[in-house]
Amino acid sequence: MSEHDMKLVVVGAAGRMGQTIIRVIQQTPGVKLHAAVERETSAFIGKDAGELAGAGFVGVPVTSDPLEAFLHADGVIDFSSPASTVNFAGLAAQARIVHVIGTTGCSEADEEKILAAARHARVVKSGNMSLGVNLLGVLAEQAARALPASGWDIEVLEMHHKHKVDAPSGTALLLGEAAAKGRGIALKEHSVRVRDGHTGAREAGTIGFATLRGGSVIGEHSVILAGEGELVTLSHSAQDRSIFARGAVAAALWAHPQKPGFYTMLDVLGLNH
Ligand code: NAP
Repeated sequence: MSEHDMKLVVVGAAGRMGQTIIRVIQQTPGVKLHAAVERETSAFIGKDAGELAGAGFVGVPVTSDPLEAFLHADGVIDFSSPASTVNFAGLAAQARIVHVIGTTGCSEADEEKILAAARHARVVKSGNMSLGVNLLGVLAEQAARALPASGWDIEVLEMHHKHKVDAPSGTALLLGEAAAKGRGIALKEHSVRVRDGHTGAREAGTIGFATLRGGSVIGEHSVILAGEGELVTLSHSAQDRSIFARGAVAAALWAHPQKPGFYTMLDVLGLNH
Protein backbone atom coordinates (compact mmCIF):
# COMPACT_ATOMS: atom_id res chain seq x y z
CA MET A 1 0.00 0.00 0.00
CA SER A 2 1.24 3.53 -0.76
CA GLU A 3 0.27 6.96 0.50
CA HIS A 4 -0.88 7.76 -3.08
CA ASP A 5 -3.51 4.98 -3.07
CA MET A 6 -7.05 6.19 -3.72
CA LYS A 7 -8.90 6.14 -0.39
CA LEU A 8 -12.29 4.47 -0.84
CA VAL A 9 -15.34 4.29 1.41
CA VAL A 10 -17.67 1.31 0.98
CA VAL A 11 -21.26 2.07 1.98
CA GLY A 12 -23.66 -0.81 2.54
CA ALA A 13 -20.49 -2.62 3.61
CA ALA A 14 -22.24 -5.68 5.04
CA GLY A 15 -24.36 -6.30 1.93
CA ARG A 16 -23.73 -8.94 -0.75
CA MET A 17 -21.99 -6.38 -2.98
CA GLY A 18 -20.43 -4.39 -0.10
CA GLN A 19 -18.50 -7.43 1.12
CA THR A 20 -17.42 -8.35 -2.41
CA ILE A 21 -16.13 -4.79 -2.98
CA ILE A 22 -14.11 -4.85 0.25
CA ARG A 23 -12.44 -8.10 -0.91
CA VAL A 24 -11.69 -6.64 -4.37
CA ILE A 25 -10.24 -3.42 -2.86
CA GLN A 26 -7.86 -5.57 -0.80
CA GLN A 27 -6.65 -7.28 -3.99
CA THR A 28 -6.38 -4.16 -6.21
CA PRO A 29 -3.24 -2.03 -6.44
CA GLY A 30 -3.76 1.75 -6.25
CA VAL A 31 -6.75 1.70 -3.88
CA LYS A 32 -7.21 1.23 -0.15
CA LEU A 33 -10.19 0.84 2.16
CA HIS A 34 -10.62 4.11 4.04
CA ALA A 35 -13.96 3.49 5.77
CA ALA A 36 -16.93 1.12 5.74
CA VAL A 37 -20.45 2.38 6.44
CA GLU A 38 -23.60 0.57 7.53
CA ARG A 39 -26.86 1.69 9.11
CA GLU A 40 -26.89 2.70 12.81
CA THR A 41 -29.01 -0.36 13.58
CA SER A 42 -26.63 -2.81 11.88
CA ALA A 43 -25.21 -5.62 14.02
CA PHE A 44 -21.84 -5.04 12.30
CA ILE A 45 -21.08 -1.52 13.65
CA GLY A 46 -17.64 -1.56 15.28
CA LYS A 47 -16.67 -4.89 13.67
CA ASP A 48 -13.60 -5.00 11.40
CA ALA A 49 -14.71 -4.50 7.77
CA GLY A 50 -12.09 -6.91 6.40
CA GLU A 51 -13.08 -9.69 8.77
CA LEU A 52 -16.75 -9.08 7.98
CA ALA A 53 -15.97 -9.55 4.27
CA GLY A 54 -13.78 -12.60 4.79
CA ALA A 55 -10.67 -10.67 3.70
CA GLY A 56 -8.82 -10.81 7.04
CA PHE A 57 -8.23 -7.98 9.53
CA VAL A 58 -7.80 -4.55 7.85
CA GLY A 59 -8.07 -2.22 10.87
CA VAL A 60 -11.17 -0.41 9.55
CA PRO A 61 -14.14 -0.70 11.93
CA VAL A 62 -17.62 -0.43 10.37
CA THR A 63 -19.14 2.97 11.20
CA SER A 64 -22.63 4.50 10.94
CA ASP A 65 -21.30 8.04 10.34
CA PRO A 66 -20.99 8.68 6.57
CA LEU A 67 -20.13 12.38 7.04
CA GLU A 68 -17.00 11.56 9.02
CA ALA A 69 -16.19 8.64 6.68
CA PHE A 70 -16.34 10.84 3.53
CA LEU A 71 -14.34 13.74 5.04
CA HIS A 72 -10.80 12.62 4.09
CA ALA A 73 -11.75 10.06 1.44
CA ASP A 74 -11.19 10.22 -2.34
CA GLY A 75 -14.24 8.20 -3.32
CA VAL A 76 -17.30 6.21 -2.28
CA ILE A 77 -18.52 2.93 -3.72
CA ASP A 78 -22.23 2.57 -3.17
CA PHE A 79 -24.36 -0.52 -3.76
CA SER A 80 -27.04 0.16 -1.14
CA SER A 81 -30.63 1.34 -1.62
CA PRO A 82 -32.15 4.28 -3.56
CA ALA A 83 -32.99 6.42 -0.48
CA SER A 84 -29.52 6.01 1.03
CA THR A 85 -27.80 6.55 -2.34
CA VAL A 86 -29.55 9.92 -2.74
CA ASN A 87 -28.39 10.87 0.75
CA PHE A 88 -24.81 9.71 0.06
CA ALA A 89 -24.81 11.63 -3.27
CA GLY A 90 -25.43 14.88 -1.35
CA LEU A 91 -22.60 14.10 1.06
CA ALA A 92 -20.20 13.09 -1.75
CA ALA A 93 -21.01 16.39 -3.52
CA GLN A 94 -20.24 18.34 -0.33
CA ALA A 95 -16.95 16.48 0.04
CA ARG A 96 -16.32 16.89 -3.75
CA ILE A 97 -15.23 13.29 -4.17
CA VAL A 98 -15.95 10.39 -6.53
CA HIS A 99 -19.27 8.58 -6.08
CA VAL A 100 -19.59 5.23 -7.87
CA ILE A 101 -23.25 4.16 -7.78
CA GLY A 102 -24.35 0.59 -8.49
CA THR A 103 -27.66 0.88 -6.64
CA THR A 104 -30.65 0.07 -8.84
CA GLY A 105 -34.37 0.83 -8.57
CA CYS A 106 -33.93 4.62 -8.34
CA SER A 107 -37.02 6.70 -9.21
CA GLU A 108 -36.94 9.66 -11.61
CA ALA A 109 -36.91 12.00 -8.60
CA ASP A 110 -33.91 10.10 -7.19
CA GLU A 111 -32.10 10.35 -10.55
CA GLU A 112 -32.66 14.12 -10.62
CA LYS A 113 -31.13 14.51 -7.16
CA ILE A 114 -28.13 12.39 -8.19
CA LEU A 115 -27.70 14.53 -11.35
CA ALA A 116 -27.77 17.66 -9.18
CA ALA A 117 -25.07 16.16 -6.93
CA ALA A 118 -22.96 15.47 -10.05
CA ARG A 119 -22.41 19.22 -10.41
CA HIS A 120 -19.87 18.88 -7.59
CA ALA A 121 -19.08 15.16 -7.36
CA ARG A 122 -17.66 12.86 -10.05
CA VAL A 123 -20.52 10.38 -10.30
CA VAL A 124 -20.27 7.10 -12.20
CA LYS A 125 -23.64 5.32 -12.20
CA SER A 126 -24.61 2.15 -14.01
CA GLY A 127 -27.25 -0.54 -13.64
CA ASN A 128 -24.41 -2.98 -14.31
CA MET A 129 -20.70 -2.44 -13.74
CA SER A 130 -19.42 -5.46 -15.68
CA LEU A 131 -17.51 -5.22 -18.95
CA GLY A 132 -19.58 -8.03 -20.48
CA VAL A 133 -22.98 -6.43 -19.90
CA ASN A 134 -21.83 -3.03 -21.12
CA LEU A 135 -20.53 -4.65 -24.29
CA LEU A 136 -23.87 -6.52 -24.58
CA GLY A 137 -25.61 -3.12 -24.42
CA VAL A 138 -23.56 -1.88 -27.36
CA LEU A 139 -24.39 -5.07 -29.31
CA ALA A 140 -28.10 -4.76 -28.43
CA GLU A 141 -28.09 -1.17 -29.71
CA GLN A 142 -26.48 -2.27 -33.00
CA ALA A 143 -28.89 -5.19 -33.41
CA ALA A 144 -31.91 -2.99 -32.72
CA ARG A 145 -30.67 -0.49 -35.29
CA ALA A 146 -30.05 -3.17 -37.91
CA LEU A 147 -33.30 -5.12 -37.55
CA PRO A 148 -36.41 -3.05 -38.44
CA ALA A 149 -39.16 -2.60 -35.84
CA SER A 150 -41.80 -3.59 -38.42
CA GLY A 151 -40.53 -7.18 -38.55
CA TRP A 152 -38.55 -7.67 -35.33
CA ASP A 153 -39.89 -7.61 -31.76
CA ILE A 154 -37.51 -6.94 -28.86
CA GLU A 155 -37.95 -8.64 -25.47
CA VAL A 156 -35.60 -8.46 -22.47
CA LEU A 157 -35.62 -11.47 -20.15
CA GLU A 158 -33.89 -11.55 -16.76
CA MET A 159 -33.51 -13.79 -13.74
CA HIS A 160 -32.08 -12.96 -10.31
CA HIS A 161 -31.86 -14.44 -6.81
CA LYS A 162 -34.94 -14.45 -4.56
CA HIS A 163 -33.74 -11.56 -2.35
CA LYS A 164 -33.73 -8.95 -5.13
CA VAL A 165 -36.24 -6.18 -4.38
CA ASP A 166 -36.60 -4.22 -7.66
CA ALA A 167 -37.89 -5.29 -11.08
CA PRO A 168 -37.09 -5.20 -13.93
CA SER A 169 -33.41 -5.27 -12.94
CA GLY A 170 -31.20 -2.23 -13.51
CA THR A 171 -29.37 -4.31 -16.12
CA ALA A 172 -32.57 -5.22 -17.97
CA LEU A 173 -33.43 -1.51 -18.10
CA LEU A 174 -29.89 -0.67 -19.27
CA LEU A 175 -30.27 -3.21 -22.10
CA GLY A 176 -33.76 -1.92 -22.91
CA GLU A 177 -32.41 1.65 -23.06
CA ALA A 178 -29.64 0.50 -25.41
CA ALA A 179 -32.13 -1.22 -27.72
CA ALA A 180 -34.41 1.85 -27.62
CA LYS A 181 -31.43 4.04 -28.55
CA GLY A 182 -30.74 1.77 -31.53
CA ARG A 183 -34.37 2.16 -32.60
CA GLY A 184 -34.32 5.93 -32.00
CA ILE A 185 -37.24 5.78 -29.53
CA ALA A 186 -37.71 6.68 -25.85
CA LEU A 187 -37.88 3.50 -23.75
CA LYS A 188 -40.28 5.09 -21.26
CA GLU A 189 -42.95 5.56 -23.93
CA HIS A 190 -42.46 2.22 -25.66
CA SER A 191 -41.84 -0.33 -22.91
CA VAL A 192 -44.16 -3.08 -21.68
CA ARG A 193 -42.89 -3.91 -18.20
CA VAL A 194 -45.51 -6.49 -17.19
CA ARG A 195 -48.13 -8.62 -18.95
CA ASP A 196 -51.07 -10.25 -17.23
CA GLY A 197 -54.49 -11.47 -18.36
CA HIS A 198 -56.04 -10.63 -21.75
CA THR A 199 -53.39 -8.25 -23.03
CA GLY A 200 -54.35 -8.27 -26.71
CA ALA A 201 -51.77 -8.77 -29.46
CA ARG A 202 -48.27 -7.40 -29.09
CA GLU A 203 -47.97 -3.76 -30.19
CA ALA A 204 -45.26 -3.38 -32.87
CA GLY A 205 -42.25 -1.29 -31.87
CA THR A 206 -42.55 -1.90 -28.13
CA ILE A 207 -39.78 -3.34 -25.96
CA GLY A 208 -41.07 -5.97 -23.55
CA PHE A 209 -39.64 -7.11 -20.21
CA ALA A 210 -40.02 -10.40 -18.36
CA THR A 211 -38.75 -11.00 -14.83
CA LEU A 212 -37.90 -14.26 -13.09
CA ARG A 213 -36.85 -14.53 -9.41
CA GLY A 214 -35.50 -17.51 -7.50
CA GLY A 215 -32.67 -19.25 -5.70
CA SER A 216 -29.21 -17.71 -5.71
CA VAL A 217 -28.94 -16.61 -9.37
CA ILE A 218 -26.50 -13.67 -9.58
CA GLY A 219 -27.85 -12.31 -12.87
CA GLU A 220 -28.98 -13.79 -16.20
CA HIS A 221 -30.00 -11.47 -19.03
CA SER A 222 -31.11 -12.01 -22.61
CA VAL A 223 -32.13 -9.56 -25.29
CA ILE A 224 -34.29 -11.48 -27.75
CA LEU A 225 -34.97 -10.10 -31.21
CA ALA A 226 -37.83 -12.11 -32.61
CA GLY A 227 -38.52 -12.01 -36.35
CA GLU A 228 -40.77 -14.05 -38.67
CA GLY A 229 -39.19 -17.50 -38.63
CA GLU A 230 -35.95 -16.52 -36.88
CA LEU A 231 -34.72 -15.43 -33.46
CA VAL A 232 -31.55 -13.60 -32.46
CA THR A 233 -30.60 -13.91 -28.77
CA LEU A 234 -27.87 -11.85 -27.10
CA SER A 235 -27.18 -12.98 -23.58
CA HIS A 236 -24.97 -12.52 -20.52
CA SER A 237 -24.51 -14.74 -17.52
CA ALA A 238 -22.92 -13.39 -14.31
CA GLN A 239 -21.10 -16.19 -12.52
CA ASP A 240 -19.50 -14.16 -9.72
CA ARG A 241 -20.35 -10.81 -8.04
CA SER A 242 -16.69 -9.80 -8.31
CA ILE A 243 -17.30 -8.77 -11.96
CA PHE A 244 -19.43 -5.86 -10.65
CA ALA A 245 -17.00 -5.08 -7.83
CA ARG A 246 -13.97 -5.02 -10.15
CA GLY A 247 -15.90 -2.73 -12.51
CA ALA A 248 -16.84 -0.41 -9.62
CA VAL A 249 -13.25 -0.13 -8.38
CA ALA A 250 -12.03 0.48 -11.96
CA ALA A 251 -14.72 3.20 -12.25
CA ALA A 252 -13.47 4.89 -9.06
CA LEU A 253 -9.88 4.92 -10.33
CA TRP A 254 -11.02 6.22 -13.75
CA ALA A 255 -13.16 8.99 -12.20
CA HIS A 256 -10.50 10.21 -9.77
CA PRO A 257 -8.79 12.63 -12.23
CA GLN A 258 -12.03 13.60 -14.10
CA LYS A 259 -14.00 16.83 -13.78
CA PRO A 260 -17.23 16.80 -11.72
CA GLY A 261 -20.05 15.33 -13.79
CA PHE A 262 -22.29 12.36 -14.45
CA TYR A 263 -20.62 9.39 -16.17
CA THR A 264 -21.56 5.79 -16.96
CA MET A 265 -19.58 2.58 -17.37
CA LEU A 266 -19.55 3.23 -21.13
CA ASP A 267 -17.31 6.24 -20.42
CA VAL A 268 -15.12 4.19 -18.09
CA LEU A 269 -14.75 1.34 -20.59
CA GLY A 270 -14.31 3.59 -23.63
CA LEU A 271 -17.46 2.16 -25.27
CA ASN A 272 -19.26 5.51 -25.56
CA HIS A 273 -18.90 6.21 -29.27
P1 NAP B 1 -27.87 -6.09 -0.02
O1 NAP B 1 -27.16 -7.38 0.25
O2 NAP B 1 -29.25 -5.88 0.54
O3 NAP B 1 -26.89 -4.91 0.44
C1 NAP B 1 -27.27 -3.58 0.60
C2 NAP B 1 -26.59 -3.10 1.85
O4 NAP B 1 -26.75 -1.67 1.98
C3 NAP B 1 -27.23 -3.74 3.11
O5 NAP B 1 -26.20 -4.16 4.00
C4 NAP B 1 -28.02 -2.56 3.67
O6 NAP B 1 -28.25 -2.65 5.06
C5 NAP B 1 -27.10 -1.41 3.33
N1 NAP B 1 -27.78 -0.11 3.47
C6 NAP B 1 -29.01 0.24 3.05
N2 NAP B 1 -29.26 1.51 3.42
C7 NAP B 1 -28.18 1.96 4.09
C8 NAP B 1 -27.84 3.18 4.74
N3 NAP B 1 -28.71 4.20 4.77
N4 NAP B 1 -26.63 3.30 5.34
C9 NAP B 1 -25.76 2.29 5.32
N5 NAP B 1 -26.01 1.08 4.74
C10 NAP B 1 -27.22 0.93 4.13
O7 NAP B 1 -28.02 -5.88 -1.61
P2 NAP B 1 -26.96 -6.22 -2.77
O8 NAP B 1 -27.35 -7.50 -3.43
O9 NAP B 1 -25.57 -6.01 -2.28
O10 NAP B 1 -27.35 -5.08 -3.81
C11 NAP B 1 -27.28 -3.71 -3.44
C12 NAP B 1 -27.72 -2.86 -4.64
O11 NAP B 1 -26.78 -3.01 -5.70
C13 NAP B 1 -29.09 -3.25 -5.23
O12 NAP B 1 -29.74 -2.07 -5.65
C14 NAP B 1 -28.71 -4.12 -6.42
O13 NAP B 1 -29.68 -4.17 -7.41
C15 NAP B 1 -27.48 -3.39 -6.88
N6 NAP B 1 -26.55 -4.16 -7.73
C16 NAP B 1 -25.99 -3.50 -8.77
C17 NAP B 1 -25.06 -4.09 -9.57
C18 NAP B 1 -24.40 -3.28 -10.64
O14 NAP B 1 -23.47 -3.79 -11.31
N7 NAP B 1 -24.80 -2.03 -10.85
C19 NAP B 1 -24.69 -5.43 -9.33
C20 NAP B 1 -25.25 -6.10 -8.24
C21 NAP B 1 -26.19 -5.45 -7.43
P3 NAP B 1 -29.69 -3.25 5.58
O15 NAP B 1 -29.63 -4.70 5.28
O16 NAP B 1 -29.65 -2.89 7.03
O17 NAP B 1 -30.75 -2.53 4.82
